[in-house]
Amino acid sequence: MIKQAFTWHINILITLSILLLLAFMGVSGAVEQSGKSLYNFLSPKEASQDIIVVELDSKSIKKIGQWPWPRQIHADLITELSEKEATQIAFDIDFSAQSNKLSDQAMAGAIKASDATVILATFKQRKSENSANFTENLPLPIFADHALLGSVNVIPDQAGYISNYQYAQKIGDRIRPNIAALMTNTAGDLNKSFEIDQSINPATIPRISAIDIIEKRIDRADIKGKSIIIGGTAVELGDRYATPAHGVIPGVVIHALAAETIKSGMDIAILSGYIPFAAMLIMTLLLTKILKPRTRAFKLSMVALILSTILIKFIAYHHAIFSIEMGLTLSFLTTHLIVTFIISALHSLHSERMFDRDTQLPSNLLMIDKSRKMTQLNIAVAQINNFAEIKAVYTKEELSQILQSLARRLELLAVSNSIYRTASDQLAWFVDPQYDDRLQDHFDTASSFLLHPIIVGPHMIKLNVNCGYVDGPSDECAELLSKASSAATRAAILGYRWTPYNDDINIFAKEKLTLLSSLDDALAHDDIWPAYQPKIDVQTGLITSAEALARWTHGELGNIGPDRFIPLLEAQGLMTDLTYHILRLSLRDIERWNLQGSDFNCSVNVSAALLLDQKFIQKSIDLINDSPVDNGQITIEITETSALENMEKASKMLTEISAHGIKLSIDDYGTGQSTLSYLRNFAAHEIKIDQSFIKSMVENETDRMMVRSTIDLAHSMNFKVVAEGVEDQATYDILKTFNCDVIQGWHIGRPIGADEFAKTWLNGDLRRQRHIAHNGQAAKLNAA
Ligand code: C2E
Ligand code: CA
Ligand code: CA
Repeated sequence: MIKQAFTWHINILITLSILLLLAFMGVSGAVEQSGKSLYNFLSPKEASQDIIVVELDSKSIKKIGQWPWPRQIHADLITELSEKEATQIAFDIDFSAQSNKLSDQAMAGAIKASDATVILATFKQRKSENSANFTENLPLPIFADHALLGSVNVIPDQAGYISNYQYAQKIGDRIRPNIAALMTNTAGDLNKSFEIDQSINPATIPRISAIDIIEKRIDRADIKGKSIIIGGTAVELGDRYATPAHGVIPGVVIHALAAETIKSGMDIAILSGYIPFAAMLIMTLLLTKILKPRTRAFKLSMVALILSTILIKFIAYHHAIFSIEMGLTLSFLTTHLIVTFIISALHSLHSERMFDRDTQLPSNLLMIDKSRKMTQLNIAVAQINNFAEIKAVYTKEELSQILQSLARRLELLAVSNSIYRTASDQLAWFVDPQYDDRLQDHFDTASSFLLHPIIVGPHMIKLNVNCGYVDGPSDECAELLSKASSAATRAAILGYRWTPYNDDINIFAKEKLTLLSSLDDALAHDDIWPAYQPKIDVQTGLITSAEALARWTHGELGNIGPDRFIPLLEAQGLMTDLTYHILRLSLRDIERWNLQGSDFNCSVNVSAALLLDQKFIQKSIDLINDSPVDNGQITIEITETSALENMEKASKMLTEISAHGIKLSIDDYGTGQSTLSYLRNFAAHEIKIDQSFIKSMVENETDRMMVRSTIDLAHSMNFKVVAEGVEDQATYDILKTFNCDVIQGWHIGRPIGADEFAKTWLNGDLRRQRHIAHNGQAAKLNAA
């Protein structure tokens, strides 16, 4: 999985790169402008009416009949406006060139005579086309002598718009105020500009056609006390500029708007966009530290940041504090929000693939991901063979409950308790390193967990599961998974609970053949022999019984456990001879121990199929009858499922066995569907609660309750209760408080050969030995 911190650096980096691109494309400028447009829309303003534009419009130009106008016309304008008591008369017209001498003198005279202040325009120009130096085009000295001079240069922004206005400009060594600053008597700061207030609607600035003034059609009231700015508005004069909010408008209107801006006090300082950007960048980084990234809270905070940015801008502007450039900041925040959303979406897509949708168990992709951090992989898979049937019978929810409870049971066996769903019918895990040299134990435990039925609602579901195992290098997880699956499939075919993967596909078939062909020989030479596992009587603390478990010491294949040959022989119908053999050897060993003064009971396992074999049963009874061993010293263990499946016939056989004083035990109780009251129909003496319940009892409350109620109920029906698979003192202690009768498990002792068993459990003072086990010191004894 991608680490979150990593994602977050990447996320910010992605945002910044997109931002750079956007800034390059002028998007942040457009964002800035949209902000302003929104403000203008929300808060439109009207012009003060104190500034009037006198237009050199088409109508005036047509009327005069020539352009440029004779200076006499301008003289008339000045005289008329002055006479009507204008306070200022500003010209956005170039008067730098000489014209008709008389005309020029007339205008100079009018300027001199004017009561209104006359302001004339200067133009900044490059010295030559490619020069870096500028010169200023000044009005003729005879005009300038009695007038103020103001620059009419405006500087477009990056997008080509006139949006800002300078108070003054530096031309060469000279500082020249701009015309709007002069009109409003503002000193301004040479180095500062302000934003032209775009919320002022230029259409509300009063305009008068120059010809109407010249022909004296305007009332004094309209002129008196006003600032006049005269300039060309006729399209043919070409003095036009693009503005962000009002389209292309004449230069003279721009100066009027600038003057209006100053008059209304909106010529506020511009705060560079980099400052809020830096602040919001820091805020965003802090947010990613405080809040979990990708959460709703984070996204909402980002939205809040965006809204507050807009709000701050509006408030600061509205109260004429600052004009803060927020285009960059807003672009950044919005981009970051979008990137966050996209990455969240990608991430949830990713985690959807990392977790199985039905069960929420981690998937094979996550398993492969995890494998990269490991040095060596030990992979186990559990494959459900009857998955198709189960899928057909149960609902989707029940199915996912089944898989979830399987996974929960297996957790203890896995690295970081993680069970992955690697296929619809398969769970997989990395084998916990504590099992590195105890794979058989690992899979014994896994099998007991897997075969232990699952309760979902009213259903008790029995799964048919086989496991596969493989190990290999950490970069081959996917291949190893498929190898482990094929091993599990092979285990199913051969009737094993689990098999390790082997490159040689024939190895199992070969082993099977070898085992089958050497069976008779092994029985004849006692290569197959019973190991005895002690059982302790909880009340007295005495070892009073043992279970005989078949072992095969094979010349070629070494020591092999019953899991590898019992299912094979059962499948081939070859269990009779083996069972006689174990029974015979057990009788021999008990007889020997009896001579040493003990009265051990020994359990012998009998496969389900054999119960239906009348000849076998009869022969077994004869064998026991003929032995000097007391019949009550032998217990036949049969598994719960076998008892159930062929009830009538099995019941008859069991009654027969019982009639001869031989004891009967129901093995692996809890893994089948039968209830205790049902089992009462069989003449059984005891039940053995299956290991899977016992092993999980300390941790799992449900299993603990199941064990307790089973013990109570069994006692009320006169069954003795044996708990097997007890591996620690804690389990032993709980079972003791539950009044369990007999306990079997590694905590008491492992299955060992007859001689060793006699040495360990019969030697010397029997009762003293037994006492040690009862007090929880068996582990020490075993270790010694
Ligand atoms: P089972 O009858 O349920 O035998 C108990 C199994 O649990 C034995 O495995 C025993 O070694 C193991 N065990 C006992 N205590 C503990 C413990 O504390 N922890 C763990 N993890 N395991 C414990 P084993 O000897 O490998 O036998 C496996 C199965 O093979 C037996 O299960 C039984 O079903 C079958 N089996 C063994 N011998 C015979 C036999 O002579 N005839 C028949 N029909 N089946 C046999
Ligand atoms: Ca048994
Ligand atoms: Ca058992």
